[in-house]
Amino acid sequence: MRNFEFEYIKELIAQSQLIIVTSHYNPDGDAMGAALAMAALLRKAGKEAVVMVPNDYPGFLKWMPGNDKVIIYRKNEKMADEMISRAGLIFCLDYSALHRIDAMEEPVRNSKAAKVLIDHHADPVLSDFDYYLTLIQTSSTSELVYRFIDGCSWLDLIDRDIATSLFVGIMTDTGSYSFACNYPETFEVTASLIRTGIDPEHIHRMVYDTYSENRLRLLGYCLSEKLTILHEYSTAYIALSKPELDRFHHQVGDTEGIVNYALSVENIKLAVLLTERKDRIRLSFRSKGELSVNRIAREHFNGGGHLNAAGGDSFISLEETIIKLKQVLMQYKADIDRSSL
Ligand code: 5GP
Ligand code: MN
Repeated sequence: MRNFEFEYIKELIAQSQLIIVTSHYNPDGDAMGAALAMAALLRKAGKEAVVMVPNDYPGFLKWMPGNDKVIIYRKNEKMADEMISRAGLIFCLDYSALHRIDAMEEPVRNSKAAKVLIDHHADPVLSDFDYYLTLIQTSSTSELVYRFIDGCSWLDLIDRDIATSLFVGIMTDTGSYSFACNYPETFEVTASLIRTGIDPEHIHRMVYDTYSENRLRLLGYCLSEKLTILHEYSTAYIALSKPELDRFHHQVGDTEGIVNYALSVENIKLAVLLTERKDRIRLSFRSKGELSVNRIAREHFNGGGHLNAAGGDSFISLEETIIKLKQVLMQYKADIDRSSL
């Protein structure tokens, strides 16, 4: 779905002094990959462009090209607000509604800059944006950024740094090409990124083989002590309290990927990771087959996402959230039973 001509957006880019490239709260590999690539591309096209995200992101993404220039809104609100008000154009990458950028929502909403959405989530709130390019049937926003670059006839601007960022986005959002990747285009885009001379094996190691000792031990603890299987609902969940996270000196990103282990159990169709945060319980959902975790997250846990990967928040205690989760599972029992593995 697209409501603009590429030539028109190129014109907007040409007219803008400052362009801000934003992505969602708790940025992941696709958020950072898409944003860093887009900002680098705009700089190569001769523009002043910065990446701005609401809060900090995991250390395993901090080696990415352009990382040193990223503005974290929460750490520098005054300067960030001033930049947002000065921007001529704001790219909104990998999120489908402005509430997903947390404290940045209000300044971005109030900014006179045109807002361009590029995203792959279900049910985007299109009225939050002026222009949009959205597609659910794709690997990632990073792949869509590639297609945007192609649409602008700027493929020759893709250098190794830009290709590296886009590759990180596609690789992380597909779990290293294991889900959301039943599309030939994903592999065609990947092939053309690799042709720029990037080193996919090295990139994979930089993201996945850089665990801290605490993070690996937390994973071990989750798998041996905390994995709970509800056979009746073909569901596996892991619930982590704040003291448990503290015991492993939890850092941003340390729980990333844990939910996928729960889904890897035989006959499990739905996996949930619950983590107790300062002011909320964060839920991370994954599913196999037709079972929509986007729906579960949206209808019951103030969240959303994709068919097979979604997130949400709960504002009751961890124990109460587990009880609520079980009640929700009861409602979805027929859907779960029907869904294929
Ligand atoms: P994760 O479980 O990795 O945090 O999120 C899984 C997917 O769901 C990601 O693509 C993420 O962007 C999306 N997602 C996570 N939380 C939310 C949320 O609160 N609302 C919406 N709409 N999407 C979310
Ligand atoms: Mn994404």
